[in-house]
Amino acid sequence: MYPVYKYIGKREECEEVNLTFPPQHQDQQPGFEYLMQPRPISENPYATSSQKLKDKVAIITGGDSGIGRAVAYLFAREGADIVIAYLDEHIDAKETQQHILELGRDCILVPGDLSKKEMASEVVRRALNRFGQIDILVNNHAVQFITDSILNISEEQLDRTFKTNIYSFFYMTQAALPYLKRGSTIINTTSVTAYEGNKHLIDYSATKGAILTFTRSLSQSLVEKGIRVNGVAPGPIWTPLQPASWPAEALETFGTKTSKVPMNRAGQPFEVAPAFLFLASDDSSYMTGQILHPNGGTITST
Ligand code: NAD
Ligand code: MG
Repeated sequence: MYPVYKYIGKREECEEVNLTFPPQHQDQQPGFEYLMQPRPISENPYATSSQKLKDKVAIITGGDSGIGRAVAYLFAREGADIVIAYLDEHIDAKETQQHILELGRDCILVPGDLSKKEMASEVVRRALNRFGQIDILVNNHAVQFITDSILNISEEQLDRTFKTNIYSFFYMTQAALPYLKRGSTIINTTSVTAYEGNKHLIDYSATKGAILTFTRSLSQSLVEKGIRVNGVAPGPIWTPLQPASWPAEALETFGTKTSKVPMNRAGQPFEVAPAFLFLASDDSSYMTGQILHPNGGTITST
């Protein structure tokens, strides 16, 4: 595992390195974090808790792995109980749940296909049964399929990408909204691809553009209720989404040359999670309809 001090803290003790990853591919989507080499880094070992989310309840979709897992760990460290909705990666999900329990907070797992409207109601029902409240909704799950031409995007792929990545954000928000209160927050995960586009991810990046505008429109519609809606647009981050979608060799330069990231490296999930904490907590009380950009320095238009 690449030592975390290569990214943060104790910089004087190490050389800056440009990370490359060993070629690897997983055939199914979603991918599995426990099969990744090296494993993503989910927590900042130097983090201390300020209890910014004390006794809040957060639903995090796709919280079993990758960015969602890092967000779940940070929210738990900050005092929140966690509901993790995910498709079917039970080994990853149980590992995440176990660590949240070790951090001293409660966590329930709700597996199921969020592209189906009824699943959103099930997630909300389970959250209310266990915790009696919902304060934070993080819409974060997604799939991405690499294609070399729009002509190769099948109707099935288009349906799966849009139903999973954006329809479900509507469903989750519709299901949770009746229980959100003044001070509650919604955070949507979009992507740098919403701003830059990506010729291999035409359908995926279109859903990420939709999430961006969904975030802005929803923020305006909920501002009078005192519910803030913001988004996070990560750059290339080392998560299961990557080996589950790109060809094995593409990962060797992931986040470096090909993606023209100024920091010339991929990010780790723990480097993205604080953006979600900021947007979930009262620290961002004067922000709604905005997007944060943990992306290694890529300049976006807004
Ligand atoms: P990930 O694979 O760890 O997380 C995606 C999760 O989505 C999976 O854990 C899976 O359980 C869930 N999911 C997929 N289909 C589902 C379905 N039908 N029903 C329920 N859950 C489903 O990968 P990640 O990179 O952490 O992805 C999290 C978010 O970050 C996604 O929205 C992704 O688009 C976004 N993002 C990732 C990157 C990156 O480089 N990793 C960059 C920009 C944006
Ligand atoms: Mg997963």
